[in-house]
Amino acid sequence: MSVIYERVALIGLGLIASSMFWAMKRAGVAGEVTGYARSAETRRTAREIGLCDRVCESAREACEGADLVVLCVPVGVMGAVTAEIAPVLKPGATLSDVGSVKRAVIEAVSPHVPDGVHFIPTHPLAGTEQSGPTSGFAELFDNRWTIILPREDEDEAATRRLETFWQALGALTERMDADHHDLVLAVTSHTPHLIAYTMVGVADDLSRVTDSEVIKYSAAGFRDFTRIAASDPTMWRDVFLSNKDATLEILGRFTEELFALQRAIRKGDGDHLHAYFTRTRAIRRGIIEAGQDTDAPDFGRAPKGKRA
Ligand code: NAP
Repeated sequence: MSVIYERVALIGLGLIASSMFWAMKRAGVAGEVTGYARSAETRRTAREIGLCDRVCESAREACEGADLVVLCVPVGVMGAVTAEIAPVLKPGATLSDVGSVKRAVIEAVSPHVPDGVHFIPTHPLAGTEQSGPTSGFAELFDNRWTIILPREDEDEAATRRLETFWQALGALTERMDADHHDLVLAVTSHTPHLIAYTMVGVADDLSRVTDSEVIKYSAAGFRDFTRIAASDPTMWRDVFLSNKDATLEILGRFTEELFALQRAIRKGDGDHLHAYFTRTRAIRRGIIEAGQDTDAPDFGRAPKGKRA
């Protein structure tokens, strides 16, 4: 494939930025890729593993002359980082971000974007519980959705270019507005993470009583919760603080449903439980049919005959 952006700058060099770098190299869609991360340690690791063509000592240095700048830092610092790099963003360049929350990021970043720079937020719906510069891999975005959120009056050609770029990284793309995005993500990602954190926290309290039986007998269901609950604490703190309204709305609904199931269990209402679980099973089937997950038992992790 031919080059889409001659110069790309990645600010923040963790899971998402490093996966973008390897995917860009695989696709051949970027000329030179520069990078910057806050700590000297991350910058040193990046240089050691060849992450970025040039690792810079400041965010400004990395962004100088860039055609595309992607903010890959936690949601809570997007505004401050934009204020820092704004003076060197070149006219006609595209500034983008990959934050998991959109309304709060748009509000924090927009005031600092210079005239003539296209600010087009995105959110790749792909990730793992790993973080840091060594956690990325080129296939992370393959066949996964990246949401593109052009603001009103955004230049269509700039938006199309960014869409083509993400498609070249392996992603499927869709456009959405920020409020809708934040509500959808509260349902599909943010609230499930909060529930996983809670479940693992409850089990941890219990394990003190039962002398680590929780770890010893941790079967598939709980193990999946622990994987999600191992996600980066800074990133997830920022997600909940920035997507407060939508997360609280979905948590309210979740609590109501939980009470209804609790009542069904207490009353021995098997019909209610069976109907509910039948409905949820169909949702899993829908996800598999859409090609967004595997139908192998235990997500294909366990060798045949050795499943927990
Ligand atoms: P990560 O692996 O924890 O990496 C974050 C990077 O940001 C690190 O390199 C960190 O530098 C750097 N950083 C933090 N504060 C900074 C600052 N003030 N200036 C410059 N660099 C700074 O995080 P990630 O998982 O890639 O997530 C990055 C963004 O993508 C977040 O906004 C997140 O919401 C979003 N996102 C994450 C996922 C996911 O599943 N992980 C999925 C989609 C979108 P140091 O290493 O020096 O601390």
